[in-house]
Amino acid sequence: MTQANLFDGATLLTIDDTPQNLELISAIFFDKGCRVLEAASGEAGLALAREHVPDLILLDVMMPGIDGYEVCRRLKADPLTRETPVIFLSALSDTSSQVAGFAAGGVDYLAKPFKIPEVIARCDIQLRLLSEIRERRQSERLLKNVLEMSREGIAVLDPSCSTDYRWALANPVMQQILRRDVLTGLSLAETLPEALAPELAELCADARAQGHAEREIFFEGSWYQISAQGLTARSGPDEAPTHSLSLTFRDITPLKELSLMLAKEARQDGLTGLANRRCFDETLRREWDFCARNQLPLSLLLCDVDHFKAYNDTYGHAEGDNCLQQVAQGIAQTVRRPTDLAARYGGEEFAVILPNTPMDGARFVAQMICEKILGLEIPHRDSESSQWVSLSVGVASVIPAQGESSELGQQNLIEASDRALYAAKQGGRNRVELAEQFASID
Ligand SMILES: [Mg+2]
Repeated sequence: MTQANLFDGATLLTIDDTPQNLELISAIFFDKGCRVLEAASGEAGLALAREHVPDLILLDVMMPGIDGYEVCRRLKADPLTRETPVIFLSALSDTSSQVAGFAAGGVDYLAKPFKIPEVIARCDIQLRLLSEIRERRQSERLLKNVLEMSREGIAVLDPSCSTDYRWALANPVMQQILRRDVLTGLSLAETLPEALAPELAELCADARAQGHAEREIFFEGSWYQISAQGLTARSGPDEAPTHSLSLTFRDITPLKELSLMLAKEARQDGLTGLANRRCFDETLRREWDFCARNQLPLSLLLCDVDHFKAYNDTYGHAEGDNCLQQVAQGIAQTVRRPTDLAARYGGEEFAVILPNTPMDGARFVAQMICEKILGLEIPHRDSESSQWVSLSVGVASVIPAQGESSELGQQNLIEASDRALYAAKQGGRNRVELAEQFASID
């Protein structure tokens, strides 16, 4: 691979009070493709440097007026010309002169009479360094833009001890999320809000162990998808790798709210807002296993709106729906423990799961529900049981046997409740009937 000719198109300023030197330098670099500017004094050189901002300056030391050291100091003090590398070309070859040149801000020092190939080689090095600095600065600018424009919180964490990290870098969004003006240099432990600290510590530990880790968290009213990615970098060939992490926070609130709503809808009965059949099945399965493990009684109520077909015939289906909504609300208001579940079982049937509740307690809840619905005083003129809408309820209770087929046991419990419900209807409706004791396994 041939290296790019960095002289081609570069602007070079040569400052020297000896016309022959100016001519020689100009000729050499003109041949290399440079645009060469000449100044015969320090003052003229400074003016040209400000006007053209050259890529490289070759500077004589001994000149009438301001000398080369002073020219260099002024170039370095001016933000416009500060970056331009300055190489001294001087007849003063002693060490103290050279040191003075570096102290003034020069990057190199060549003694006159100079050798042409050496001048070219030294200039080439400086142009190469300058080009690398510019490229690096450009990519840093781009990276900074990306970080600042990003809508995600982005950070790099360096390990500070075996369990904690230090913020090596954090973009504005990250600072905003954590409500911090400054993160860089501080430790993770001292900057994280309490609500976030354990989750993030775990995430970092996972990323350290597996290379990558991700989780969703709810923090200060928003949902974030947080991911941590291991960055194994070595600072030198003999250095041990440093296990830094990149950390991103993505706000997924709208998406998350939608999915939570859909998940809720998937478990909710559209008409009444109670749990639907699917949610009932899942809950019964879960509570069955819980009660079996802990040898606790599990009770189930099946409730049926009395003479509901007649209600629909008399008042119409819209009123029928309205009636079901009121009944559902009445049941929900009566079943208050957080582990209890009221569900629409189908049509005008409702079910209530009562974990850790024996038959007596379940009967009490069933009676309360019946009274509550009757107390709503929803007129039902074609009911043979009451002038108001009423319920028939069947109650069954069991302590699930351990090791029993859970599915068969649940089926038995439902059938026992259903038989009790049938008995309540046969007995004249508007009443509670209890299932006969049944063995949950035969
Ligand atoms: Mg001179």
